Amino acid sequence: MDLSKRDRKLIWHPFTQEKLADLPVVIVKGKGCYLYDEKNNKYLDLISSWWVNLHGHAQPQIARSIYNQCCNLEHVLFAGYTHEPAVVLCEKLNSILPDELCKFFFSDNGSTAVEVALKMCYQYWKNKGLNKPLFLAFEGGYHGDTFGCMSVGLASDFHNIFTDLCFEVKFVPFPNTWIDDEDVEEKEQNALEVLQKCINENLEKIAGLIVEPLVQCSAGMKMCRPNFIRSVVQLLKKHDILTIFDEVATGFGRTGTYFALLQTEVVPDFLCLSKGITGGFLPLSLTITTLKIYNSFLGDTIRQAFLHGHSYTANPLGCAAAIASYDLLTTPETVDAIKKINQTHIEQIKILMKNCENVTRGRVTGTISAFDVNENVDMQNLKQNCLQEGILIRPLNRTVYLLPPYCITIVELIKSYQILISKLNE
Ligand SMILES: *Cc1c(COP(=O)(O)O)cnc(C)c1O
Repeated sequence: MDLSKRDRKLIWHPFTQEKLADLPVVIVKGKGCYLYDEKNNKYLDLISSWWVNLHGHAQPQIARSIYNQCCNLEHVLFAGYTHEPAVVLCEKLNSILPDELCKFFFSDNGSTAVEVALKMCYQYWKNKGLNKPLFLAFEGGYHGDTFGCMSVGLASDFHNIFTDLCFEVKFVPFPNTWIDDEDVEEKEQNALEVLQKCINENLEKIAGLIVEPLVQCSAGMKMCRPNFIRSVVQLLKKHDILTIFDEVATGFGRTGTYFALLQTEVVPDFLCLSKGITGGFLPLSLTITTLKIYNSFLGDTIRQAFLHGHSYTANPLGCAAAIASYDLLTTPETVDAIKKINQTHIEQIKILMKNCENVTRGRVTGTISAFDVNENVDMQNLKQNCLQEGILIRPLNRTVYLLPPYCITIVELIKSYQILISKLNE
């Protein structure tokens, strides 16, 4: 029996209606920007395998770093023990983050990084003797699939079934914008007014606000301007409300800078990182916070401490992968590649918008480009047709986006746009 049928017999896949889904594509190899199936067809991975891959598949330096670490120390518990890869990784990240973000808490996926931020945020107030049970979040925001994450992501349409089990969150509009959007000022103004009103009505109760800065990824690559995020954070700081930046997807160069917060020029109280952190090799995540938060957990009893942790917290192999990935990310070549991908996106999205009548709202932030496709196009067909031409996309509802690994060549990227244009016009 072939592998996809053996898979179907035993395996339940994520985000999949198993009754309707085609048999899964068996991937046997990855190299650079390409994935290879059993028949040696190759697919250009334009979505970086759910946004985790930065430097290409099976990248040799990262592979070697993991191998070397495996031969020395594969894992050790992280309460009461530490190891060099964890410390070195935090030192490196510390050197490119704002000085205030200087306390690093490890976990092993994006959802738990967010869960940790929410719990720390809530407990910060508890430790000060205050009860603040309310969080604020943005409409459309997606923050992961555990219960805390679902609660702050309830206005994303992903978790409706679990509404009754989630805690209380107030949602404010996200002023998403695109190239040549004429109403952006008005949308931002409105969002800030709704936020101000919500703060006025609930001030005593609000622990914090969570946001995906610059790009709401799962919502369909919805983009906002850095200024808006800055205004939000300034407003919150004025009212002593904590902010959580969920950069699980936007971190590590995706928005054009190492982190989106470097463009918003404001510092949140918590920063959540995962996905690209290991270059797409191993699960790892970080919740990074300030001395103000950290110090509130210090005390003479365990009661004030943060009693949370996972078996694989700060796994040395994950840290070794993350160090190698960081070293690649910060080379002049990668910094330059990110810039070139951005320029190509801006050029090509304009060409695509001009040549396809069935698309709207072209938009670009850093290495992410996206556009919306109207109802005349069957998205499943579009995806299949692209796959047949060797490019792997995975539209979010009616949004097509390109989020390639940084090792993609400009020629490959332009070719991808050409394929998209021709498939959209079929
Ligand atoms: C993917 C994602 C998460 C969840 O991360 P997982 O590793 O899938 O649990 C959280 N926040 C954002 C913004 C994400 O894109």
